[in-house]
Amino acid sequence: MIIILKENTTAQELNTLAEMVKSHGVTPHITEGVHQTIMGLVGDTTRIDIESLSQLKIVEAVRRIQEPFKNANRKFHPMDTVITVGDAVIGGNSLTLIAGPCSVESEEQIISVARDVKNSGAKILRGGAFKPRTSPYAFQGMREEGIKLLLEAKKDTGLPIVTEIMDLSQLDLFDEIDIIQVGARNMQNFELLKQLGRSGKPVLLKRGLASTYQELLMSAEYIMAFGNDQVILCERGVRTFETYTRNTLDISAVPALKKLSHLPVVIDPSHAAGIADFVSPLSMAAVAAGADGLMIEVHNDPSKAKCDGPQSLTPESFDKLAKKLTSLKKIMQED
Ligand code: PEP
Ligand code: MN
Repeated sequence: MIIILKENTTAQELNTLAEMVKSHGVTPHITEGVHQTIMGLVGDTTRIDIESLSQLKIVEAVRRIQEPFKNANRKFHPMDTVITVGDAVIGGNSLTLIAGPCSVESEEQIISVARDVKNSGAKILRGGAFKPRTSPYAFQGMREEGIKLLLEAKKDTGLPIVTEIMDLSQLDLFDEIDIIQVGARNMQNFELLKQLGRSGKPVLLKRGLASTYQELLMSAEYIMAFGNDQVILCERGVRTFETYTRNTLDISAVPALKKLSHLPVVIDPSHAAGIADFVSPLSMAAVAAGADGLMIEVHNDPSKAKCDGPQSLTPESFDKLAKKLTSLKKIMQED
C-alpha cells in the first residue's frame, strides 16, 4: 500500500502517521521527492482501513498495490484447495456434480430426485429448506421439516447435502448438514459469515446479484479469517441490462476467480439462465472454462415445482447432460 502525502506535510505529522501504521504491525518506508512525499507500507496491510487513512488531513491519496484478501489469495496459497465431503471431492482436477430440486417439497420428492441424480453421477444433493423468495407470499420452504427430509435422503442414498442457511438462528439445525450454502442475497451478511467461519463446516458461497469478484473474495475472507478455510465459490449469474435470461452467467468468473484465489469454483447455470433449455449449453461452457463443479436444479416434475420449475431439469435430461459433461471433462484432462 502506498500513501501519497500532501505537499505541506510537516516532519512531525509524518512521524505521527509512521507511528500509527507501525501500531498495525506494518513498516513504513518514506520517500521524499522534490514535490511529493510518499509512504510505502510493507507487511500485512489487510487490517488497514483505506477509508479512514484517506480522510487524514495530510493524506492526498492511498493506493493498494495488493488485493485486500489474504487467506483466499492464490499468491499466498499457490496450490488449489480441495474440499472433501463424504465421497465427494471438490477442487483440484475433478468435476463435481451437485444436483437436486430448488426446494424440498415432500419425502417422496426429495428421495426420488436424490436416487435419480445419484444414478446419473451427482456426488452431492442440493435442496432448499429455507427459501429466500422475492415475495413474502411465495412458498418459503419446508424449513425445519425440510432439513429432516434432506437428512432422510442422505441416509437413503449416502449423498452429502448442501442447503441454504438464511439466518444465524437456524445454525443449530445444520449440525448434520455437510455443506452450508450462503445464497446470493446473503453474500454480504457479515455476521452470518463470521459465525460460519467459527462453525468450521464447508460453505458454498454464492456471488451476490451485483457483486464484484473482489467483493465475493472479501466475503470468503470473512469466513476464512474466522478459522474456516473450506469455502467453495459459486457463480450464479449477475444482474445486467439483459432481461431475457433470469441473470447473465459470467463465465469469466471461472478463470478470474481461479487466478485470484485457490478456492474451488462452482457454476450454477440454473439460477443464471432461469430457463431449463439453457442449462445444458451453459454447463458445457462452465466445464470448458475450467469450473470445479456445477450445481444444477433437478425436479421430478418441473411443471408442478413449488419454486423455479421453469429452470429445473427432469431427471432424464440431467442424466443426458451428466454424460456429456463427463465426456467433455475427459477431453479436457487429455491435454
Ligand atoms: C438457491 O440456490 O436455491 C438460490 C436461492 O440461489 P441464489 O442465492 O443464487 O439465488
Ligand atoms: Mn432455485
